[in-house]
Amino acid sequence: MAERLHEGEKVFRGIPVSSGVSRGRILVLDKQRHVHALRTLSEDEVAGELSRFERALMQTRHQLHEVQRQLTESVGAEQGSNLGRIFDAHLMVLEDPMLIDPAVKLIRDNKLNAEQAFQTAGESYVAALDKVDDEYFRERAGDLRDVISRVLNHLSGRTDAVDLRQLKEPTIIIAHDLTPSKTAQLDRKMVLGFATDVGSKTSHTATLAPKLRIPAIVGLKNASEQLQSGDYVLLDGFNGVVILNPTDQTLFEYGQLERRQVTLEEKIRDALTLPALTLDNHRVFISANIEQAGDADAVLASGAEGVGLFRTEYLFINRESPPDEEQQFQAYRQAAAALKPCPVVIRTLDLGGDKLLSSLAVPTEMNPFLGWRAIRFCLEQVDIFRAQLRAILRASIEGNVKLMYPMISGLDELNQANALLDKCKAELRTENIAFDEQMEIGAMIETPSAAIITDALAKRVQFFSIGTNDLIQYTLAVDRMNEKIAHLYEPTHPAIVRLIKTTVDAAHARKVWVSVCGEMAGDPVFTALLIGLGVDELSAAPPLLARIKYLIRRLKFSETKELAAFALNCESPSEIAARCQELATQAAPALFEK
Ligand code: PEP
Ligand code: MG
Repeated sequence: MAERLHEGEKVFRGIPVSSGVSRGRILVLDKQRHVHALRTLSEDEVAGELSRFERALMQTRHQLHEVQRQLTESVGAEQGSNLGRIFDAHLMVLEDPMLIDPAVKLIRDNKLNAEQAFQTAGESYVAALDKVDDEYFRERAGDLRDVISRVLNHLSGRTDAVDLRQLKEPTIIIAHDLTPSKTAQLDRKMVLGFATDVGSKTSHTATLAPKLRIPAIVGLKNASEQLQSGDYVLLDGFNGVVILNPTDQTLFEYGQLERRQVTLEEKIRDALTLPALTLDNHRVFISANIEQAGDADAVLASGAEGVGLFRTEYLFINRESPPDEEQQFQAYRQAAAALKPCPVVIRTLDLGGDKLLSSLAVPTEMNPFLGWRAIRFCLEQVDIFRAQLRAILRASIEGNVKLMYPMISGLDELNQANALLDKCKAELRTENIAFDEQMEIGAMIETPSAAIITDALAKRVQFFSIGTNDLIQYTLAVDRMNEKIAHLYEPTHPAIVRLIKTTVDAAHARKVWVSVCGEMAGDPVFTALLIGLGVDELSAAPPLLARIKYLIRRLKFSETKELAAFALNCESPSEIAARCQELATQAAPALFEK
């Protein structure tokens, strides 16, 4: 429910995921997707509904031709004609009697409105194709989904087709959901900020936001239903608030807040070039999470000492086919060389969950976060995995590269991945292609099962990186995407505190390094707890690092250890959180001024 701050305003509250304030006109993207009211038609309405359906099919056909034309213009005729085949497949879907006839029948005989009829016909067709164990049919299911969604958007007059790279003026984006692939495309010059109805602090869209350096909010529940394109809003990414029609008084107050923030930024900037050393000389390693090779240039300037997590799946997103070994090699080489001799931890492909690739037909799953994700996908799609492993190995001589596997849930996966890596090494040796024989291997600890068997995993790797985003979601059974249960997503749950401690103890017993690269590592509230638990490295989005360093330089290791000891003996997540906040505020009050 929206509330009011000052007369005439409407306030929507969500979860802040990227700080800053922006004001401007909004563009509301697709409203809640594919939930269509069921309406029974009267006999008189049927003919009109059939022509409305026919019109939507025609509009989709025009739209596909237009996208095809634009693509050919931008990539050239030869590549354009290759891409053209994809659009031909989509255009064929629009003529497919197996899809169109049942929809027409549902409108004509069952008197369903066109949205319901087409969605019902489309879903059963997709489900039938998904069941066929054949790559070709699965690809067809992917084409179908795309086309169905386009037709439904035309039927309901949505603006889903907006190309976010082609915005004509600075705009604030409001959407029910923004996929990670769309978020990655946002043009910072034109997008002043964004806010979504769904999502929580650790959804991938949220984790991308700070890097874009634009204010962002998720979990606004139904704001996209209530706001209209063209409305004027103020988006407060510090507190997670969108204010519709802000009054002069509100704009004045926000002006003051921004001035205070500028002063704070200046203050913490001094910490950038200094080591993350506590007052009693305990050293913590600070590194950056990146998504693209080009991000590496900004890493050192952000105060990081290397890259703790290179999320390589973003190289695969927003393109027509997966990058081959050579293209990947160039990206990894570029990052390694730019940061040499600083370490660059390259994580192998973490496809799945909310990160879906348009170039690979992956069947829809009931529980994608529990499904064919990350290492599970790679161990079956050996060609894709092999190309990536070879590319990383080849890049290893260009700098200080380390390789890390995501979503390890058992020893077998780690052993299989290492066996394939050994094969790739043997191939490269035969081909006389150089790589670093000593390249370190690490595993992400992001499932409870991995955390519990860290003693066994530690015998086979040189480092761990705790992915708290997933570790929390899987341990507490709280979907990291779901704003309705965001309050249950508790980083200070005793189960999480204990799993981190188990991991650190098992790792350190074997001299295995432990990093944390989930969002917890970038939140100053939890810095002392993680350090006190013995974590060696914190890796987060570059814009968050100065604050973390600033805080570490004002903490004593001894007090972080006391905090960790308290947390390990405490039964209440909120008491642990309160103690964390207390210590952080006491050490660096400026960071927490509202
Ligand atoms: C994590 O799970 O904490 C993590 C860093 O991986 P991702 O957010 O990419 O799933
Ligand atoms: Mg993860």
